[in-house]
Order: sequence, then C-alpha cells, then structure tokens
Amino acid sequence: MTFQDAEKRSAELRVELNQYAHEYYVQDQPSVEDAVYDKKYHELVAIETDFPDLITPESPTQRVGGKVLEGFEKVVHTIPLYSLNDVFNKEELIAFDERVKKAVGHAVSYCCELKIDGLSISLKYEDGVFVQGATRGDGSVGENITENLKTVKSIPLRLKEPLTIEVRGECYMPKSSFVKLNQQREEAGKEVFANPRNAAAGSLRQLDTRVAAQRNLSTFLYTLADFGALASTTQDHALNEMARLGFRTNPEHQVCETIEEVWQYIERFHETRDDLPYEIDGIVIKVNEFSVQDALGFTVKAPRWATAYKFPPEEEQTTLIDIDWTIGRTGVLTPTAIMEPVRLAGTTVSRASLHNSDYIEKKDIRLKDTILVYKAGDIIPEVAQVILEKRPEDSQPYPVPTHCPICESELVHLDEEVALRCINPKCPAQIKEGLSHFVSRNAMNIDGLGPRVLAQMFDKGLVTDVADLYSLEKEQLLTLDKIKDKSAENILNAIDASRENSVERLIFGLGIRHVGAKAAGILAEHFGDLSTISRATKDEIVNLNTIGETIADSLVTYFENEEVHELMQELADRGVNLVYKGIRASQLAEVESPFKDKTIVLTGKLLDYNREEAKEKIQNLGGKVTGSVSKKTDLVIAGEDAGSKLAKAESLGIEVWNEQQMIVAIEESYSN
Ligand code: AMP
Ligand code: ZN
Repeated sequence: MTFQDAEKRSAELRVELNQYAHEYYVQDQPSVEDAVYDKKYHELVAIETDFPDLITPESPTQRVGGKVLEGFEKVVHTIPLYSLNDVFNKEELIAFDERVKKAVGHAVSYCCELKIDGLSISLKYEDGVFVQGATRGDGSVGENITENLKTVKSIPLRLKEPLTIEVRGECYMPKSSFVKLNQQREEAGKEVFANPRNAAAGSLRQLDTRVAAQRNLSTFLYTLADFGALASTTQDHALNEMARLGFRTNPEHQVCETIEEVWQYIERFHETRDDLPYEIDGIVIKVNEFSVQDALGFTVKAPRWATAYKFPPEEEQTTLIDIDWTIGRTGVLTPTAIMEPVRLAGTTVSRASLHNSDYIEKKDIRLKDTILVYKAGDIIPEVAQVILEKRPEDSQPYPVPTHCPICESELVHLDEEVALRCINPKCPAQIKEGLSHFVSRNAMNIDGLGPRVLAQMFDKGLVTDVADLYSLEKEQLLTLDKIKDKSAENILNAIDASRENSVERLIFGLGIRHVGAKAAGILAEHFGDLSTISRATKDEIVNLNTIGETIADSLVTYFENEEVHELMQELADRGVNLVYKGIRASQLAEVESPFKDKTIVLTGKLLDYNREEAKEKIQNLGGKVTGSVSKKTDLVIAGEDAGSKLAKAESLGIEVWNEQQMIVAIEESYSN
C-alpha cells in the first residue's frame, strides 16, 4: 500500500467508524453488525501501524487508552461550572416558580431534565476537535482528565461542524456495568465501589488510561458554557442542537408550560426511575428561554433560573440479624447481611451485600446494629453504613471468620487482596461452585444440572470432581431428590452430548484462574488440544496476541499440578473430547489451495473483505502477498477502482482475479 492509498483509505475508515460509533454509543441505534465495525477497525489499526504518521487525534484507535499519566494538571474554568439550588417537595417547587414569575413579571416555560447521578465534566473543542476534558473540581478549577475522557466512546472526538466551544454534562456508569464491575472486583478480592457515581469518578481519575477504557462509561451533555456559540434561544433547542453536533443528550427532556406539568414530570420519573439503565437522583428544572435566564441571572453559587428537585434517597434503616458467609468458586469468602425485612425502592429486601470481610471491619458493622441499606434501581441492595447512635449497649465487634465456614481450613489474604480466601483445593464449597461453573452455558453447557442437584450429587459422593460427571449412572441419579426417570435421562443425554464439545469449552469450564471464555478460545485455536496447552511454556503463551502474563502464569501454575494431569486422563478415558474442532490458522498452510507457493498482489478496494483479512487468509493458505506487481507476480486480485497495478499486471500478462473469485477460492480451500 502506498502512502497515498493509506492516507485515503484511513480517512475513509475514520469517517465510517466514527459514524458507526456515533450510531451505537450516542444514538443507541447501530446500523451495522459488530463484526463489520471490528473488521474496519482492524483494517485501520493495520494501516496506522504501517503508517503511524497517519494517526489523527480523532481516530477511533485513539480511544483504547494505554497512556500512563504522572498526575492530573489543573484546569481553570474561565466560565465556572455552576451548582444548583435544591427543592425537596412540591411546596418548595411552587415557591421557586413564584420567585421566577415575580422577578420577570410573567409566567415562563421550563425545560425539565433528568438529574444524572454521575460526575460533572467540561469538554473543550477547537475547530470541532476535542482538545480538553476536565472535572468540575470546585467549579472554578478542575482536573485535566482529557486522556481518560477520550476512552469514553460517546464523547465525539470531532464534531459535525468545526466549532470552537465548551460543553458541560455528566459522565456516568450505567447500572449494568456497575453491577458487573463490582462482581468482578469481589471475585478478584478487590475493594468494591459504593455506587455507580463513585465507580465513574474512580474510573476517570485513573492514571492508567487503559483502566478507564475498560470501564464502560457513558455521557449525557446538557449545557454549553457559552450559549452564544449556537444559534439557539431556548434550552430545549440547544439540547437538540448539541445532539446534532454529535453529543449524546438525554432523550427524556421535556418542555413544561406550568409548574403543575413540571410536577407531573417529576412524579412520572420518580415512579419509573428504577427502569432507567442509569441512575438519577432528581430532576433539573430550567427556565427554557435564554433571554429570561439572562434576566434572572445568578446568585453567588447558583443560577436563579434553575433548581434541582431531589428524590428522597432510596435507603432505609433496618436491623442486622445475622451474617451469612459463603465461599465462591475461587475460594473468596463473601458475607451477606441477613436483615429485618424492609421496603426499599419498591421491593421488600431481607438480604444485602456486605462485599467482603474487610468491609465489615472497616465500617465496624456488628450484629443487632441499625444499618442503612441502599438500593438504586435493580442494583443489589447493600449495607451502606451503621447508625452508631442506635447501637445497643452490649454490642461487640463482629468476629470475622478466620477459618472456612465449610471446610474449616485457615483463610488467607493473598498478595494485596482485601478479600479472605479459602485456598484448600478440596474445599467442598469451591468444588460445588466449580461444578456449577463447569456445566454453565459458556462452558460445557449441560442442561438440567442446577446448583442444588450438583450439591446433592457432591454430598452423596456421586461426584467429587468434574470427571465424575461422565461416569454417572441412571440408578445413581434416581437416588436424588425430585429426579425421576425422565429427568435422569435428560441429564444423562445432556452430559453425553457435552463430550463432543470443542475443547475451548472444557478449558473455560475447568475454572483456571483468569482464563475466561475468550482466552480459552484463543488458546484452543492456537495449540489445538489440551495436552499441548498443558505443556506450553509461559513464553509460548505470552507470545499469543491478547494473552497477558497473568493468564500465562496462571496456566503454567495450574498445569504444574499432578492432579490436573490425572483429571485430564480421567476425562480422556471417559470419552470427553480434548481437541479444538474449529479450523486452525496454522493447519491451513497444509491445505491444498490455488494460492499455495504463489506470489500475489492485492489492489483496489475490496468490498467483502478488508485487505488485512484477505492477506492473512491467503498467507494461511500458503500464498505470499507482496506490495508491487513485477514479473515474479503470479496472480493479481483486483478490487474496485484498481489502478496502475492492474494496468501493469495486464501489460505483463499476469493472471487477474476479481474479489469474488478470491472469495470462492478462499472458501473452498477452508472447507477442504
Ligand atoms: P448538586 O451536585 O446536587 O449541587 O447538583 C448540581 C449538579 O447536578 C451539577 O453540577 C451537575 O453535575 C448535575 N446534573 C446532573 N444532570 C444535570 C442536568 N440535566 N442539568 C444540570 N445539572 C445536572
Ligand atoms: Zn473451604
């Protein structure tokens, strides 16, 4: 590829990819499959790797993070970020409306918006390019978090128009991402975040931008620092204009003509806030007309033309009755609060998360304490804090377990973890959880074996490890509660079918620390079978794309264990497949193909494949792909608008194929 070709193609790809990302992250309306995005993204990465000079600040590849920052510089907000006065009930809301009407001498309309519970941010664009992002700080001075904000995919790196503007809004973590993040952190023995707002703030203040990139943050922008930059005369119109420029704006905003209508809006969202995929802590009510806003002006701290209605917090007090301790698949000890039932956010709850033993010690949570339970939306309720004034006099600190509640072996803190772990590999609790993981959907996918059935099998000694599942007999199953003839057969059939799974399911199912489904797939594809993986050295594993040191170390340690090899042997003896069943790139070189030992040139624009992908497939099939046409060239594959290379090939009498011929040849070779 010449520099000119690369420049042209990378510019096209940037525009396309940014458009797809906008549809996906801003409009929530993707127009293409993820695979299409991935393909083009990788094509762009390949071009930028060959021609680093072509990387521009708005390239989507600049969002992945990877910089380690020294610290955050201060940013002075030339136009300060204001805060809002609060109202807590209908009377105060009406009083706000009265004050506004009295000051301007007539009734006004309001723009109502959801008060997103995240972190205020301010974004600067110069000639349409994102140049700086900052936290609110104290309103006058914030911190420069540009690099982290670049990883937030809903923030446009280039606007639809080359404007020089500053916009403000909220960066937040969706509820689902928050729940997932905390689950991962719990499982990894790390401290958890108290709520999505803290999680968002923690993510944006990471010095390693890769961390922020993984955190799934999103944004809603709602104001311009200086509205002069847009030809809008109302807040409502300005929001639409901001959306047009490429910003993600909240779709729920609504203009209300009277304060009674405002109240209805508030009530509607008070009721339905749990159904929103993000947290809100109230409603912001803004005078819609900018001219009226100007007439009202600001007090020292906040605008007179806006107020925030704050929802009553979704937290309640109740009594802690007991703490239930469980051991997870990786041995992490997890406490759950058993509480006097209490109504919270529309449901009755009697259990709440206490995260880990460290949390109990740090917050000095004790039995019989009055505790504050917090729940937002569908998020699992958690114990926020103890109400110390209500602590009974005879209260004693809670003795955190020192031994596994199941197998009684001593619990340990690994490395710097806050969590306590049981490290006994024979711990029944861990084995039961491990069995559940083994049969789960992304692992061996064995239907009909819920946690209760598995626990019974284990307790009755029918199954002590995953290999035992493959020697179960019908009579044994019939000894279990609620298992009748038919269900026993179904279970056996499901187990039997799982013998044929391609080995990546087994690798994931074994529950090797840090080895997720994706890594299992990569390992299986590369090494081909379980015993080869078990003999792979750390270097060989780390050499694979996207497999890091942590995974490699964990695999090597896992396979050093003699018992693991016994388990592998047992699985093999019982007919479980240990081989990868997909096509492996390395095997393809041995396949007969029309590309084998040929020198091939790709030119022009390919429609179904990107160049990198076509190149890789042809190479896998034994072809050599070069950049320029010469007498040594055997075959030229010409896509659309092929130019000088095609002409040269024709003048030299070299065989020329179109893209379709190439695709047919690749597909036939792969299916051989
Ligand atoms: P408070 O922090 O309670 O004083 O409320 C003011 C904050 O609400 C602002 O600093 C914003 O971060 C936040 N906020 C969330 N959503 C909005 C919105 N739609 N309009 C204005 N401010 C908002
Ligand atoms: Zn144990």
